[in-house]
Amino acid sequence: MDKQAELDKLKRVILNNDIGLDLALQAANLVMGDGNLDAEIVFIGEAPGKKEDEQGLPFVGAAGKFLNEMLAQAGMTRSDVYVTNIVKYRPPENRDPLPEEKEAFWPYLLKQLQIIEPKVVITLGRHSMEYFLPDMKISQIHGQPRQVIVDNMTLTVIPLYHPAAALYNGSMRQTLIDDFLMVPSIVEGVTAEAKFANLRKVC
Ligand code: URA
Repeated sequence: MDKQAELDKLKRVILNNDIGLDLALQAANLVMGDGNLDAEIVFIGEAPGKKEDEQGLPFVGAAGKFLNEMLAQAGMTRSDVYVTNIVKYRPPENRDPLPEEKEAFWPYLLKQLQIIEPKVVITLGRHSMEYFLPDMKISQIHGQPRQVIVDNMTLTVIPLYHPAAALYNGSMRQTLIDDFLMVPSIVEGVTAEAKFANLRKVC
């Protein structure tokens, strides 16, 4: 089965199992994710907002516009990466997702990562960060890559501030842009290391 078919199947499982039902009842769309299914980088935000719910796509509002600008500054476009959220329905009034909502969607996010097989996961904000890097403070570790093993996957996780939080906060905005500009070299290091490891296996 190809990756798109596997993701479609995962979407049906979420719908058929009534995952996040309280949110689903108020949302227009289940927002699974969007982008390159063979991407080396997967961005993980918090939850869809109003625009995302309307369009069924992640990061298409103001935060998404800022994300696209930073991608461009780092020499990338949305079609180079895959973008999703930990919670896949819009919480009412854009409130923070509840712990039980994140918990309910976490296994499906892991399955999504198993399908896409990225090398690098970039968490946007603390809601997705806390699942990969528990008990850490984003203010202390933003921009610093860490290798983690989750669900038997070895991933490099780069925790970044959420673009919506940084959008109108001058110093956080600059910090996020600075962190973002380091992403290509971090990814290059990770992919070079992976190629080297494969070579070592062959020799
Ligand atoms: N904020 C998020 O965390 N995700 C989106 O998709 C949009 C805004």
